[in-house]
Amino acid sequence: MKALCVLGSTGSIGVSTLDVVRRLPGKFRVHSLTAGSNAQKLAEQAAEFKPARIAISEKEKYAELKSQLNGYRGEVLAGDDALCALAEDAASDYVVSAIVGAAGLLPTLAALKKGKQVGIANKEPLVMCGPLMIAAAEKAGSTILPIDSEHSAVFQSARAGNHGEVRKIVLTASGGPFRKATKEMMAKATKADALKHPTWSMGAKITIDSATLMNKALEIIEAHFLFGVPYEGIQVWVHPQSIVHALVEFTDGSVVAQLGLPDMRLPIQYALTYPERLDGGLPVLPIEKMAALNFEEPDRERFPSLDFSYEAGRKGGTAPAVLNAANEEAVRLFLEGTVPFIRIFDLVGKTLSAHQVKPMDDVPTVLEADRWARDYVKRNA
Ligand code: NAD
Ligand code: MG
Repeated sequence: MKALCVLGSTGSIGVSTLDVVRRLPGKFRVHSLTAGSNAQKLAEQAAEFKPARIAISEKEKYAELKSQLNGYRGEVLAGDDALCALAEDAASDYVVSAIVGAAGLLPTLAALKKGKQVGIANKEPLVMCGPLMIAAAEKAGSTILPIDSEHSAVFQSARAGNHGEVRKIVLTASGGPFRKATKEMMAKATKADALKHPTWSMGAKITIDSATLMNKALEIIEAHFLFGVPYEGIQVWVHPQSIVHALVEFTDGSVVAQLGLPDMRLPIQYALTYPERLDGGLPVLPIEKMAALNFEEPDRERFPSLDFSYEAGRKGGTAPAVLNAANEEAVRLFLEGTVPFIRIFDLVGKTLSAHQVKPMDDVPTVLEADRWARDYVKRNA
C-alpha cells in the first residue's frame, strides 16, 4: 500500500486526489495532509482519512484547526517549514504536489530531494525552475509524474513511441470564457465573468489563468521542461469541448492523442497508479461527446499570453520565473479588485520586458527573480 502525502489537500486537486483514494480501497494509505488556511476542510479530511500528521501553513489558523479536530490523534503542525517537513517525511513514499502557485516550490523540491514518487499538479514551480527540480529528482532517484491533464495526456501518448521519437506536442485549451468575446467585452469583464469556466471546475487562480490563456502559456514551459521538446515543437490548439487533452506527433508522422472527460480524477489516478491502470469507477467518455470535436488556432492578438510564454522560454534563465510571478501577482490584484482583467496582460508583458535575465543557477536566484517580478507588478499596477 502506497503511503501518501497530499500537499494542498483542501484545494480542487487535493479534494479530487482524496476521492481517487476513496475509490481504490486498499491501494493507498493517507499518511499526511497539508492546507494553506482552510482549517475546517483540513479537519474534516483528518477525521475521514486519519493521517498520522497534518499541517496548516498559516500559523494564525493553528488554534482554529485544533479546535475543529474532534478526537483526532495525529500530530498537528503549522507554518511553511511544517509543509516541507511533511513533504520529506520518510514515512510517506508518494507526494501529491497540489498547492497553488510558487508557494509549492520548496515543499515539492523537498520531496524530490528525498527520492520519492511525486505527482505534480502544481505547475508554477516547474515553470520557475523545472531543470533544477528535474536535476534534484535525478540525483535522488525520484520520479516525477505529471497530473496536469495535458501533460498526463502527453505522458500517456508518448508511451506509444521510444524516447527521442516525439517530434511535436499539441496542448489543447478550452479557450476559456472569453473565447468568443470582443476586446471591448474583455475590457469590461468582471471577476464573475472571468471565473465562469466553460468546461473545467478548478481553483480561482487557474480559472483566471484559463481566461487569459496564461494557463496554457505556463503549460508550454511546463511541457518543454518535462518532456525536453524544443519550443518550436510545442503548439496550442483551442478545443472548446476539452475532450482531447493533448496530441503527440512522432518522427514517422503518426499522431497519438489521449481523450477523456474534463475530470481531473483520471489524470490524478493515472499518476497515482502508474504504470498500472485500475478501475476506479470514474465516469467514462460517452460516444455522443465525441460527435463534434472542434479545433481552432488561438487568437494571439486578444490573448498575448502565448507569445509571452515563447518569449520567456526563448530567453530562458530567470525569465520563466518572472513570467510566472508577474502573472501570480497580477491575478491576485485582479481577484482583489485592484486592476481590471485586461491589465493582467499589460502587467505581465511589461514585467517580462523590464527583467534582466540571469542564469537559473540555484533556488535563491529563482526566488529573487520571483520577488523582483512581484514587486515590479505592485509598483506598476
Ligand atoms: P486551489 O486554490 O483549489 O487549492 C490550492 C491548495 O493549496 C489548497 O489546499 C490551499 O489551502 C493550498 N494553498 C494555497 N496557498 C498556499 C500557501 N501559500 N501555502 C501553502 N498552501 C497553500 O487550487 P487547485 O485548482 O487545486 O490547483 C492546484 C495546482 O494544481 C495549481 O498549481 C494549478 O495550476 C494546478 N492544476 C489544477 C487543476 C484543477 O483542475 N484544479 C488542473 C491542472 C493543474
Ligand atoms: Mg492543464
